[in-house]
Amino acid sequence: MPERSREHASALGFLIGSGQGNLGTRMKLHEYQSKELLSRFGVPVPAGDVTNDPAEAAEIARKLGGKVVVKAQVLMGGRGKAGGVKLFNTAEEAGEFAKALIGKRLVSNQNPDGMVVEKILIAEQVDIAKEFYVAVLLDRAAQRNIVMLSAKGGMDIEEVAETDPESIVKIPIDPAWGIADFEIREGLAEANIPIEARSQMVTMIKRLVKAYIEADAEMVEINPCAMTPDGKIIAADAKVSIDDNALFRHADYKATSAESAEDPIEEEAARRGIAYVRLGGDIGIIGNGAGLVMCSLDEINAAGGNPADFLDVGGGAQAERVKSCVELIMMDPNVKGLLINIFGGITRCDEVAKGILAALDELNLTIPVVARIEGTAAEEGRALLAGTKIVPAQTMQEAAEKVVKLAYA
Ligand code: GDP
Ligand code: MN
Repeated sequence: MPERSREHASALGFLIGSGQGNLGTRMKLHEYQSKELLSRFGVPVPAGDVTNDPAEAAEIARKLGGKVVVKAQVLMGGRGKAGGVKLFNTAEEAGEFAKALIGKRLVSNQNPDGMVVEKILIAEQVDIAKEFYVAVLLDRAAQRNIVMLSAKGGMDIEEVAETDPESIVKIPIDPAWGIADFEIREGLAEANIPIEARSQMVTMIKRLVKAYIEADAEMVEINPCAMTPDGKIIAADAKVSIDDNALFRHADYKATSAESAEDPIEEEAARRGIAYVRLGGDIGIIGNGAGLVMCSLDEINAAGGNPADFLDVGGGAQAERVKSCVELIMMDPNVKGLLINIFGGITRCDEVAKGILAALDELNLTIPVVARIEGTAAEEGRALLAGTKIVPAQTMQEAAEKVVKLAYA
């Protein structure tokens, strides 16, 4: 049924459409962090430990009995194919491989630029008889969280969706009632998960759903979910990503949020708690409120410019924060002009003006800066900027046209 496969494709697109391109709304956890999180909810995961030191890797492998899997902890798909996952029978071999792997750049189809391996996970090797796919994620089309299942695990789920969409089963999670055992059982049967695995899978899926909700996750994915020859179910791999907007509730992951960013300026922004997305152009943009920033991007485009970033300074910003935002934008060497577009509500325009002036002073800004400030304390703000290098503008449109003209002059 083509209708059905299209629906799958959209959910999968959302699932796999990685951090890039969206407004940085999710934080990906490494496999070892994902497994730690899930095991707190009772999901079975192989014993293991993470390190950045080859000697320690060999020691961990020895403690686990030598029969281990060594796995690069990089936030990209297809690690197996990229040579970042290998099985060993002795701690010595595992240690040798660890030495070669740490510091190496892994490149995969999904990530042609590649990523450098900093940490590795050494885990007890799972004896795998069958591999399944299980995920919990938001299905925007269904307007619901869903459990997604397939008996075809261990491979790229996008490939499964292309070649055999019928093998992927989706179970909606009712926002009021949650998910019932019988619904999970129906889904497991429909997905042709072997009968002997189903009771354990019901338990595991309920725990995955609980973890997904309580961790404010955007996605929990187990691929492969392994079945051992003696019929035990265990998560051989795990990927969890958390909604950035909920990070204040998860102080333990907040610290690693910067680490999961793919761009160095975005990494610094995450560290400073600033909503910044690098867009690759040359006109820097600061606004307050996501909507106003989006409008500013449009205006820059309409004026023939190319936005360098999306940056929302946030409500009630103080001078210090505004300065920090300008500083961040100036880390991008391509930036030739800066547009500051503020509509003061809670934010006071005089505070913004003080921040701009402080930045101008301390950063020795030589590029043209155009500011359109309106709203609370706008008069005071404009008075502070009068007679400085900052070019004033009455409207957003005028500001965009001015900054583009000055930057490309
Ligand atoms: P990914 O390529 O980034 O998804 O990394 P995975 O952790 O899923 O590993 C890739 C593949 O390696 C899996 O699909 C398995 O086939 C295999 N693999 C990973 N861990 C184990 C393990 O403990 N035992 C066995 N036998 N195979 C494993
Ligand atoms: Mn995997």
